[in-house]
Amino acid sequence: MSANTICTESCLSREFLALGTLNSLRLYGAQPGVAGQAEALVLGLDARLSAFRPGSEIAQINRSAGHRPVAVSEETFGLLKRAKAFSSFSGGAFDISVRPLVELWGIGHKADFVPRTWRVRRTLRLVSFHDLILDETCHTAFLRRTGQAVDLGGIAKGYAADKVRRLLTEAGVQSAMINLGGNLIALGTRPDGEPWRVGVQNPCSTRGEWLGLLALTDKTVVTSGSNERFFIKDGVRYHHILDPRTGSPARSGLLSVTVIGVSSEEADALSTAAFVLGLEQGAALIMERGAEAVFAAEDGRLYLTAGLRDIFQWNHRSGHSSGRLQ
Ligand code: ADP
Ligand code: MG
Repeated sequence: MSANTICTESCLSREFLALGTLNSLRLYGAQPGVAGQAEALVLGLDARLSAFRPGSEIAQINRSAGHRPVAVSEETFGLLKRAKAFSSFSGGAFDISVRPLVELWGIGHKADFVPRTWRVRRTLRLVSFHDLILDETCHTAFLRRTGQAVDLGGIAKGYAADKVRRLLTEAGVQSAMINLGGNLIALGTRPDGEPWRVGVQNPCSTRGEWLGLLALTDKTVVTSGSNERFFIKDGVRYHHILDPRTGSPARSGLLSVTVIGVSSEEADALSTAAFVLGLEQGAALIMERGAEAVFAAEDGRLYLTAGLRDIFQWNHRSGHSSGRLQ
């Protein structure tokens, strides 16, 4: 279900479900049909990329694992290729083939459940991005072993957000806020010419409080956190970002990583990888890509990369103190 809502004379707002989440668009100075086109674009990507939809290209690749290569669209091929390259760049902290573990844990999809260690170990053997074979000439994707599966959950919202931005820009929209399940793009400036103000959510608060506000023009903001989908058992928080080295939810001392950059696809992958890697290695990876980040650590400290110092306005009531990156 979705509908256009008029927020002010020049503002159009639209909410819709896709990619397993709630999405919202706020467009300024746009023709009325544009919001609907953006929604249709995201729904189309969902149909093609979701591992949960039996008819999607991704589900077909997963079903054919160990059997035969599957011909995919140029778009899916390109995204898989970049996701595999990023898996390698992150040293496997981000791993496009993590799906068997995602299914085993089922966090956010099945009842709270901690799998036995032997099952985690056995499933972990199926996770290796090297086993995704992409054939450039035939545009096919093939997973070497039965039981292997790919999952674009850590990158697809960012990719979709970039596509929505392109659609809006081509339609002449100069000012918009795109929010695909928390993957934000602040397009242009606010209609009054001021930078957008984007809140970085406090992972310790259930009431949507901010750690601080970022003043941004033409930037994306993407957060990965252990407070998105999780359950607590025997005092341990089990969440949906898995460490491909251990097979279990990442325990890197972080509560959340918020990446600020230009490409939402890259920021999405970076936030997932940095969450797995932890503060120091995560920050190094992010800075290598020319992006910036806010890290909320379990020790109650907040760490910012250098480029954010002048544009991040702390909420001093968030309960976090300032930390220093090495
Ligand atoms: P969210 O989807 O909440 O915005 P992320 O972008 O960090 O958060 O993506 C988490 C999703 O990515 C998981 O639900 C799962 O589908 C997938 N995933 C989990 N761990 C990894 C990992 N180490 N590498 C790649 N994808 C992952
Ligand atoms: Mg991500």
